[in-house]
Amino acid sequence: MAVTLGTPLSKVLGPKTATGMAEQLGLHTVLDLLRHYPRRYARRGEQADLADVQVGDRVTVLAQVKSVTTRPMRNRRGSLTEVVVGDGSGRMKLVFFNHRHAHLKPNAWGMFAGTVGEYRGEKQFAHPDMHLITGSADEDDWARALVPIYPASKDVSSWVIQKSVTLLLGAGGGFGDLVRDPLPEEIRARHGLLPLAAALLDIHRPTTMEDVERAEERLKWDEALVLQLTLAARRRAAALEPGTARSRRSGGLLDAVDAALPFALTEGQREVGEELAAELDRDQPMHRLLQGEVGSGKTVVALRAMAQVVDAGGQAALLAPTEVLAAQHARGIRDLLGPLGRAGELDGDPDGTRVTLLTGSLKAAARRQALAEVADGSAGIVIGTHALLQEGVEFADLGLVVVDEQHRFGVEQRDALRAKGHRPPHVLVMTATPIPRTVAMTVYGDLEISTLRQLPSGRGGVSSSVVPAVEKPGWVDRAWARLREEVLAGRQAYVVCPRIGDVAGPDDQPEDADGAPDDEGRGDRRPPLAVLDVAEFLRSGPLSDLRLDVLHGRMTPEEKDAAMSAFAAGTTQVLVATTVVEVGVDVPNATVMVVMDADRFGVSQLHQLRGRVARGKHPGLCLLVTDAPTASPTGQRLAAVAATSDGFELARLDLETRREGDVLGAAQSGKRSGIRLLSLLEDEELIATARGEATALLATDRGLADHPGLAAEVAALATDERADYLEKA
Ligand code: ADP
Ligand code: MG
Repeated sequence: MAVTLGTPLSKVLGPKTATGMAEQLGLHTVLDLLRHYPRRYARRGEQADLADVQVGDRVTVLAQVKSVTTRPMRNRRGSLTEVVVGDGSGRMKLVFFNHRHAHLKPNAWGMFAGTVGEYRGEKQFAHPDMHLITGSADEDDWARALVPIYPASKDVSSWVIQKSVTLLLGAGGGFGDLVRDPLPEEIRARHGLLPLAAALLDIHRPTTMEDVERAEERLKWDEALVLQLTLAARRRAAALEPGTARSRRSGGLLDAVDAALPFALTEGQREVGEELAAELDRDQPMHRLLQGEVGSGKTVVALRAMAQVVDAGGQAALLAPTEVLAAQHARGIRDLLGPLGRAGELDGDPDGTRVTLLTGSLKAAARRQALAEVADGSAGIVIGTHALLQEGVEFADLGLVVVDEQHRFGVEQRDALRAKGHRPPHVLVMTATPIPRTVAMTVYGDLEISTLRQLPSGRGGVSSSVVPAVEKPGWVDRAWARLREEVLAGRQAYVVCPRIGDVAGPDDQPEDADGAPDDEGRGDRRPPLAVLDVAEFLRSGPLSDLRLDVLHGRMTPEEKDAAMSAFAAGTTQVLVATTVVEVGVDVPNATVMVVMDADRFGVSQLHQLRGRVARGKHPGLCLLVTDAPTASPTGQRLAAVAATSDGFELARLDLETRREGDVLGAAQSGKRSGIRLLSLLEDEELIATARGEATALLATDRGLADHPGLAAEVAALATDERADYLEKA
């Protein structure tokens, strides 16, 4: 039988190994196995691995036997063998019951795999799997300087994978018989890349670390190129979709909005506005990401685009991640439009339109009315949450979809809303989480990007400080005193906590405190501070003379809306809240934010949170209260947040402290995106270059017709994606 990349592993490997690989490692075909790269390479005698292993790790170590002692067990029949192995950096004990291996003798080298345990303060392996150097058949592998250590599983150890890979080597001792290089020769030459077969050989059986590096470079290229080809194809397909031009018309809603704005647009807002206006004017649907620092005024840019679409006879939908935010947008836009936003009502302007709010919490009658307005087109501007995506929401003529705070929505949700247009509508995605360039090129690679860098002038800016509650308890009192001063001077304040409180138990998980890496690994921390407890403490203590209210996810939508309205109106002076205030909440008079247990929040999240203050002319203050020691990694991370207000820099820091998959989002991580070696952070150059090549490859009408190998890789990625999607559905 001729083995090909598509051959099932069950045809080439033993049944136990093949089953283990399929079930435990997700490897089904020869290609899967070749793409299962070593995690690292052990170097005999000079590695530093034993010193690094942690209790609980499942690891494979390459080490030399130092001593072997066997003695009878005290309370049971049988014997206990203790073997000490070392690798130059550290030692570890292996324990076997009633077991004796003929070759397990001092000075023998072997690989030992198992879960690291601890006994009397010493690291040990109980009954590890092992593979000893016997000096016979495996000699070739063992004579190598570098031993690949693969991600392994319970039944499939690293050396089984190594042997399985070796089994696939062809007559020439390489993968040349098996692998055809999909990369066009000229691209390979231009970037000095290894042929694929050579790269695969080098990554699995390197002689030097330089081999590994060159192999990785080539394999990363494939990952980047296929991903960028997929995205470029998507961009191209989108550009060919027939859309509807929504041309600018004077004397309509847009002019009214401009006349009603209480401020002059910033230069950036004007420029991006022109860009959007021109794109809406084309009959290809726009696909644009608008990223802008927190408080840079994205909403008004979106509103102006929506007004243009309404003027052209279409409808615009604004999708917000929370009910609070949807309600706030509806309130703000209605206020701004005045009678022009109440067409059809008694005091409405018949030349205007309706601003309709559609959220999950609408009562049946209100919902029916909202649906009717959306369906008959009288609602020119429709604002809502996920409820907009549901079946039964039919638009008369959806011309523009605006997605606010994109990081809360996935591509599928964006697509669901897009599908509600008769022809693909224009799409504007807005995010306040600045995205490093590579992530933008990858996650949002199917979108064009506009950036608002400038904040409206006259902003006071936010200064931030860390309040180390354990090291400097007095500073916490001082924080409350500062907050009081501000409020007594007429300003308002937020106090943010990671948890709601009141009921204990699994219902009261930290509310969306995502992304904060627990880098101290302290499992014994006290529970996070809770809104209800902190509110109670402040009411009866340091802020007893202020008007204080709470806002959190367990309140009904009406309660939340009432709490937000009272805060917006200034009736409430201090709002103690969970991260429901994280995104988009806009109360310009709020100038202080105290974040309790700030270490429980991620970097970008803290940046978002503090973007809630100093949105008006007064300077803002953000105090990050934490128990973490100043010198700890967590303390350092908070200090970095306090020290910079550059969202791009913080996004980078965030990327460093999180795993790549989290950043890409579940939908884009791992196998699905084909990313194994590529690092969004470190391979920026490579990704940018691959993006250029991908665009060039697709620039002609022939697409990938001249590159069937690449076309197949792109198709394979698409199939994986589809398969995953179906599984999820
Ligand atoms: P974000 O980009 O974070 O969504 P918003 O759109 O909520 O920011 O705007 C933040 C605040 O700045 C709002 O109160 C808004 O009215 C105000 N704003 C927007 N543009 C300007 C401007 N050009 N000049 C002054 N204030 C502005
Ligand atoms: Mg916003």
